Amino acid sequence: MQRNNKRIGLMGGTFDPVHYGHLVTAEEARCQFGMEKVIFIPAGKPPHKTRKNISQPRHRLEMTWRAVGSNPDFTVSDQEIKREGLSYTVDTIQAFREQYEGWDIYFITGADAVLEILTWKKVEELLRKCCFVAASRPGFRLESMGEELTRLPAECTGRIKTLEVPALAISSTNIRQRVRDGRPIRYLLPEAVKDYIYRHGLYTD
Ligand code: ATP
Ligand code: MG
Repeated sequence: MQRNNKRIGLMGGTFDPVHYGHLVTAEEARCQFGMEKVIFIPAGKPPHKTRKNISQPRHRLEMTWRAVGSNPDFTVSDQEIKREGLSYTVDTIQAFREQYEGWDIYFITGADAVLEILTWKKVEELLRKCCFVAASRPGFRLESMGEELTRLPAECTGRIKTLEVPALAISSTNIRQRVRDGRPIRYLLPEAVKDYIYRHGLYTD
């Protein structure tokens, strides 16, 4: 990768719902790696996600838009949601490479997600296309990446950057469960997202 290229961050996720863990991670990555902006990409049909009844794409897209609204450096892409068939990260990154020719692309993930990605078949191809930012996440040890990394060629391992993020033990799974249980979700995610969840009766089954 050449120096002085502009940098863009891509933050992929199911975002069901988006929460402060995602937002803090994206902002910290943007600041530490000098990215011009971060694009949130709600997942279409992820080949690896086994959970059934993921909320409709239009809800996840709308919640993500509401979450990033107050940050001029954040935006949202519907490219995975619009694409037919399963969404492979490698295709998503390729599409952004074509759109942002000459830019350096950073794919931002939490420690859990990066460990999963390192086991994918096309990981080497992926790492040739972009750098990875592996952010700390409570409950997941970034050091456990070590073993996975030894299986990759040396030029690949340098493309994975670790990032220490102020720890927020927030997950979408926990938020969905809280809604089901009638427990509060305020302060775990932006007000506008909380209001949207209640107005549309999400996660109540
Ligand atoms: P779920 O519980 O449904 O899996 P989630 O909270 O893990 O939801 P995802 O949409 O799966 O959210 O995550 C998108 C990306 O954000 C992943 O790379 C994940 O590792 C990262 N991420 C999610 N929550 C946090 C957090 N609290 N701190 C750091 N990274 C996070
Ligand atoms: Mg997750």
